[in-house]
Amino acid sequence: MADFVTLSCPNCGGKLQVTPDIDRFAGSHCGVEQIVKRGGGIISLSPVIDAITKVQTSVDFIAEDIRLRRDQEAKAQEKIASELRVRREKEVKAQEKIVSELAIKLLKGEITRLQNILIPLQDKKNKNSVKQLKAAVKGSIMVCILLVLLAIGLGTGALSSSSKSATSLDNNSGCIGGIWIAAIAFGATAYSTRKKANVAATTEINITKEIFDKQTEIKNHETIIKQQP
Ligand SMILES: [Zn+2]
Repeated sequence: MADFVTLSCPNCGGKLQVTPDIDRFAGSHCGVEQIVKRGGGIISLSPVIDAITKVQTSVDFIAEDIRLRRDQEAKAQEKIASELRVRREKEVKAQEKIVSELAIKLLKGEITRLQNILIPLQDKKNKNSVKQLKAAVKGSIMVCILLVLLAIGLGTGALSSSSKSATSLDNNSGCIGGIWIAAIAFGATAYSTRKKANVAATTEINITKEIFDKQTEIKNHETIIKQQP
């Protein structure tokens, strides 16, 4: 058996003698580099450029495959991220709804409590209502003025009649003193009642405003709840 095989160059067709120890050589005719392939008892030649091209093609194919896979992964991650975002938004909104519902419950309780304070202040029949207190102030002032006038009147009368009788002066002055004390008492009542009326009026205004504020707050919470899907 010969220690070489004769093959034709795939490039130029020239005869090439290939020995068993050679794997790669340049053709003696055209100079194109050839790779010797041995498999299943068959020996063939293949230009190096072809092999390089094949390798390049498979490298390109792998690169393209990696790119596609990376794209798919990026898309999958994007999808997961957006799903998480949507879920989180839903959770936040659900929590906002719960908070608003609770806030409305608390605010309604507060309004009821405030109305229980406000209603007696606005009740015309209630003796602690603003109107009743104001009327009481007027009454006390009127009585006070009448008593002062009476005391002054009696005092002047007593002075003019003092020349006539000493005993009547004593009786009169005791009576006048009593009237003065009563006038002062009504004046003091008017003063303290006026103070009470002012406090009640201020309380009424403040509570009315507070109730309005809380009702506005309830409306805001109701808007938040309405926005839920
Ligand atoms: Zn050749």
